[in-house]
Amino acid sequence: LVSRKKKPENTIVDLKGEKVGDGNPHLVFGPCAVESYEQVATVAEAVKAKGLKLLRGGAYKPRTSPYDFQGLGLEGLKILKRVADEYDLAVISEIVSPNDIETAVNYIDVIQIGARNMQNFELLKAAGAVNKPVLLKRGIAATIEEFINAAEYIMSQGNGQIILCERGIRTYERATRNTLDISAVPILKQETHLPVLVDVTHSTGRRDLLLPAAKAALAIGADGVMAEVHPDPAVALSDSAQQMDLNQFDQFMSELQSSALLR
Ligand code: PEP
Ligand code: MN
Repeated sequence: LVSRKKKPENTIVDLKGEKVGDGNPHLVFGPCAVESYEQVATVAEAVKAKGLKLLRGGAYKPRTSPYDFQGLGLEGLKILKRVADEYDLAVISEIVSPNDIETAVNYIDVIQIGARNMQNFELLKAAGAVNKPVLLKRGIAATIEEFINAAEYIMSQGNGQIILCERGIRTYERATRNTLDISAVPILKQETHLPVLVDVTHSTGRRDLLLPAAKAALAIGADGVMAEVHPDPAVALSDSAQQMDLNQFDQFMSELQSSALLR
């Protein structure tokens, strides 16, 4: 169902008027985790000030260690909904359990399925059974074929509003957190009709590489870029080393805008 052979024209996923897959670049920013209303609203204000529409933030955080901050859960989804309403933004947030999908659709505009859950087939099926866009991230060690099959799981249940997200894969290279598989972008565009985003934060894990990676993503044909922004990354409860602060976000945006990659 997701194959371009089956449907030659691009799928466009409409997020409150932001048409991801329409050929223009779409940018998603927001904190790694929802920590408080004030924290999310501060980022939302900066996003809004740039004329952008898409906000991200994790309420259920799939952390490597059980002792790390696990997210605010439903409370976090409520904060996202309040901010989305106040700033007229579409919000993207990860859901980690099939049981939370039904509730989550009342609070968020896009269900994110994270890298660690790309082959959680019950979660894929549950996300496929609701009428809500899904942002599906590539698994940490998933081949492109496995990634496409995960999207197929969602669409097989009836939900074709899927955005694919390349977020780096695990290789022997330790200079970056993961290895951004940039060639996955044109391959996914050729093989499927779905929009493709690149998460420059989790792929590189390096603040100094966010801008060049975003440029590469747009140059190679990605439908957009996702990056993490936090009002004060030093005190962030997750991914403190790689989130941009608001000044860095300003700089990132102005350099991306002057690169002529943003149409
Ligand atoms: C995220 O986007 O918040 C996240 C945890 O990313 P990933 O699933 O790609 O690691
Ligand atoms: Mn993060």
